[in-house]
Amino acid sequence: MAIERTGIAILERAQSKCKKGSRQWKKYQKAKRYVLSMSEKQLQDALHKTTRQFVDWCVKRSVSDVQMGNPEGVQRKTRKKKKANRKQGQRLSNWSFGKAKKYLKYKLAIQGIKLRKVDESYTSQTCPVCKKRKKISSRKYRCLCGYQEHRDTQGARNILAKSLYGDIRHFDVSTKQTYLRIA
Ligand SMILES: [Zn+2]
Repeated sequence: MAIERTGIAILERAQSKCKKGSRQWKKYQKAKRYVLSMSEKQLQDALHKTTRQFVDWCVKRSVSDVQMGNPEGVQRKTRKKKKANRKQGQRLSNWSFGKAKKYLKYKLAIQGIKLRKVDESYTSQTCPVCKKRKKISSRKYRCLCGYQEHRDTQGARNILAKSLYGDIRHFDVSTKQTYLRIA
């Protein structure tokens, strides 16, 4: 079973997990500017390429199910926060979430792979062992109870737990992180 997260650059979401003004935050900011400078056509091409690469990756590994975090809440929050920048933010949101989901869904369906959307609220913040919540700014999620995990695996594990069991919990699954880098 695949625990990997969809390899889409969901920049706004990623940025919302960083400390404002931090190096990583600035990196996302730069990436956002780049995306915003692209034309609709360029965006569409990039998105087709990204989703195609991800689906190829799934096919190669005989993945049967993809669990995708559904960042609706993040989107709403972003929209509220950035009234002045609404148009820009909206465009980025539409690009990252709506279209990505649509492209991914039909490309996976062609291969007979199921796509399941999972409400990802608090998945990056919650400790699956003691259920305490904590915002993280480093690469590693460390809880006072002793649990620790790489931040990306942490989020993916919790999304999968929600999909399988309906809530965030610790369960035995081998995890291997794979990042899909888009040229
Ligand atoms: Zn804990």
